[in-house]
Amino acid sequence: MPALRNFFLVVTIAIIAAVPAFGAARLTYFNNGTLIPVAWPDGSFPIRYAIDRRVVQAIPQVASLLDRAGKDWAATPDASLSFQSLGIVDGASAGKDGRNTVSMADDLFADQKFIALTTNWYDDSGRLLEADMQIDPTAVSGGYNLQQLVEHEMGHILGLDHSAVLSSVMYPYIGTGTTVGLDSDDRVAITTAYAKTKPASGATLEGRVYGDDGGIYAAQVVAENDEGEPVVTALSDKNGNFSLQGVPAGTYRIYAEPLDGPFNIQNLSGSWQSAKVTSFPTQFAGGGALRVENGRIYGNLNVDGSGSVLLNPKWIGAWAAGSDNVTLLAMPATLHAGSTITLGIGGDGFTSGMTTFDVPNPGFHRISDFKWAGNYVSATFQIDASTPAGSLVVMVKSGNESAALTGALRIEPTTRSRGVKKL
Ligand SMILES: [Zn+2]
Repeated sequence: MPALRNFFLVVTIAIIAAVPAFGAARLTYFNNGTLIPVAWPDGSFPIRYAIDRRVVQAIPQVASLLDRAGKDWAATPDASLSFQSLGIVDGASAGKDGRNTVSMADDLFADQKFIALTTNWYDDSGRLLEADMQIDPTAVSGGYNLQQLVEHEMGHILGLDHSAVLSSVMYPYIGTGTTVGLDSDDRVAITTAYAKTKPASGATLEGRVYGDDGGIYAAQVVAENDEGEPVVTALSDKNGNFSLQGVPAGTYRIYAEPLDGPFNIQNLSGSWQSAKVTSFPTQFAGGGALRVENGRIYGNLNVDGSGSVLLNPKWIGAWAAGSDNVTLLAMPATLHAGSTITLGIGGDGFTSGMTTFDVPNPGFHRISDFKWAGNYVSATFQIDASTPAGSLVVMVKSGNESAALTGALRIEPTTRSRGVKKL
């Protein structure tokens, strides 16, 4: 009998007191001690879905939102996947019936504080059989970014778990902005699952994260390129071992950080939820920058996470220099190349006069001193007009401690205004 597992995957708004979350990992299923990633088998594409008429009544443009979301995922260059709408039907609902559906959330899931969820069914080998998306009426009444919402749920339909990269589509929180677009972490995760050519292109980077008590379980490991972009992430297993797959050719530094907020272990599904979270200082793998070539495997990228840490950045905000309108969120700040902007970072363990931060991208120039207020630090930056679109890491330092906010910035290519859209 096929295994039946329901993943209640939560998308909700981030508030200042947001609970912590996890990276574009694959949905996994634990069978007799073996971790099995779930995926649609060869020959499943296009994935066909029917839209219940009640969704159209609540969201008149939902068919085009879904169509665009499917095309965005399918446009990932080295991945082979596609979706096809079966149109609008009457009486479609979630539940295993051999048909993939998009419907409104039913009463069973009311008041669970999610605004959408996807339920996946798969067999003992991790082969996906069916996936149903449900949208809660509060997604509409709350004014959330519905394009990003359906794109996120389609990631779950494809078998992705949540990502701890703030700028990724698979980050488990959503705001009311309009920005949408797959992040590098989303693209690499889906390419690894549905590679056009097998094995998938790119390199494999392997190593271990360890601390005072041995291997660290469920550490987020990030391959950051020389522009400060978090290109690929992975989680360490219970022995602390990690494998970053599908890493494009380039120059990287590898760091590991704890899942202690804003993304927490509770934001992940399946076996990850049993991981005990260990706090440790964010550290880079030894050996400095690594030049990576496609098709190769690089090993022994070990990260020493010994020692304790109090510093924990959780929130970021961006505002016009001189403005008093300061809002920090556990959501990425969207910036425009060519603009001048004040960035603020907040969290635990921030110390006035000591805690600073750095955006490790050559297009960012700090033009003010750091200022401290309450539990955040801010500074004003000029961003070169030539800075390419993408996401960036922000590194926070305080004395000997360091900690990352991965994907905290999203760069848009053009300057549309001096202001910044907040998600
Ligand atoms: Zn989700």
